[in-house]
Amino acid sequence: MLETKFKEWLHSVETTILVCWDLGHVWDAELYSHIEKVHGAYFLHGVCKRGCGVERGRYLTSSWSPDPSRNTYKYPFSYSPRGLMQGSPFFMDREHRAAIRQEIARRYAEDAGSKPGKVVRFKGA
Ligand SMILES: [Zn+2]
Repeated sequence: MLETKFKEWLHSVETTILVCWDLGHVWDAELYSHIEKVHGAYFLHGVCKRGCGVERGRYLTSSWSPDPSRNTYKYPFSYSPRGLMQGSPFFMDREHRAAIRQEIARRYAEDAGSKPGKVVRFKGA
């Protein structure tokens, strides 16, 4: 069961943020335009190209291998509904993720002037 606060977040947050929760952020090669050398590692900083506002610091070792354990993220206010979901056994479980997808679909349908919930079936070639 979705928490009331989660539903409020879901209906008020920007669509771009919901899309990033579902499909992940978009990083591009611009990350490589500014490389800092920090204690023998390379530090790359960038912002999500989808426009959700998330910033990422990515570290590469001295041999240019990714070091994910040192990645850092900076999230804009209201990006995460974490504080609104105390009742959930897991953070962002299947039900929450499904609700995000349904909300994205609902907004697209609304924008297209269709009735909410209308699903256009994909026809294979
Ligand atoms: Zn993003």
